[in-house]
Amino acid sequence: METSTEGMPEAHSDGTAEAGTGTASATAAAAEIPAPRAMAPASLSPSRAGDFMQCPLLYRFRVIDRLPEKPSEAATRGTLVHAVLERLFDAPAGERTAPRAKSLIPGQWDRLREARPELAELFADDPEGERLARWLGEAERLVERWFTLEDPSRLEPAERELFVEAELESGLRLRGIIDRVDVAPTGEVRIVDYKTGKAPRPEYAEGALFQMKFYALVVWRLKGIVPRRLQLVYLGSGDVLTYDPVVADLERVERKLLALWDAIRLATETGDWRPRPTKLCGWCDHQAHCPEFGGTPPPYPLPVAGSEQGRMGPD
Ligand code: SF4
Repeated sequence: METSTEGMPEAHSDGTAEAGTGTASATAAAAEIPAPRAMAPASLSPSRAGDFMQCPLLYRFRVIDRLPEKPSEAATRGTLVHAVLERLFDAPAGERTAPRAKSLIPGQWDRLREARPELAELFADDPEGERLARWLGEAERLVERWFTLEDPSRLEPAERELFVEAELESGLRLRGIIDRVDVAPTGEVRIVDYKTGKAPRPEYAEGALFQMKFYALVVWRLKGIVPRRLQLVYLGSGDVLTYDPVVADLERVERKLLALWDAIRLATETGDWRPRPTKLCGWCDHQAHCPEFGGTPPPYPLPVAGSEQGRMGPD
């Protein structure tokens, strides 16, 4: 999971509708909230790296323009389930049961709504509360499924929702939030991430592991320890995907991130952010600003190399 990176709040990057990362409704943002000041990117998180790889223009909209996005039911449910799994470890080991975990859901949902009032719009058109009840029921099922995959009474996490940040020799800052870190008595480190979506097909596992290798690289650079195991827990399908990284894996990810960062810096300086349409456009909140869908990007808010004026978006 990640939250606040590169100036933009994120929900959990768990492959459901994580794409819905913004926290302010478009309407509210336009009517009441002053537009956030545009800033050149200063660091990289797994989600934002994923955005750039998916579509450079999407990255620009999220990181530089910081356009608001509507909250989504799937992403919000992911955030809720993550909060419940995190808080369950406050209880003594013997009390970490499924009923106890499910009993945390209403309180965590209240807390989430309090912290993010814009979430009220998710169920604004549901006066009878039927959709909300189904949504909460699905959150319960996800929480219950976790108990078929891991036994929290036998776990004592060293860290939960751990914010990590490391600066590479090149000056690139990597950051993110790790759902759980387990440390064995022997000192071996396991990094765990919960996903409320389904496990990817084997041919897409590498993409799913990218985020975990990113975290492993940060931990390695911070503490000089290569995590023994990376573990993705898919609550949507009841699967666990593990990978035991070696130094060569992390060096490869570092090279990839440096190349990505070079491309991001170039686009930042030139203002040339290309749209890259894929079937994922269906999840994108920014079609109205995207040339691929007949839209026009807002004026580019950063200085462009060789020009005194901000440049319009890609043409
Ligand atoms: S609609 Fe598709 S091509 Fe356009 S910005 Fe969004 S992801 Fe990129």
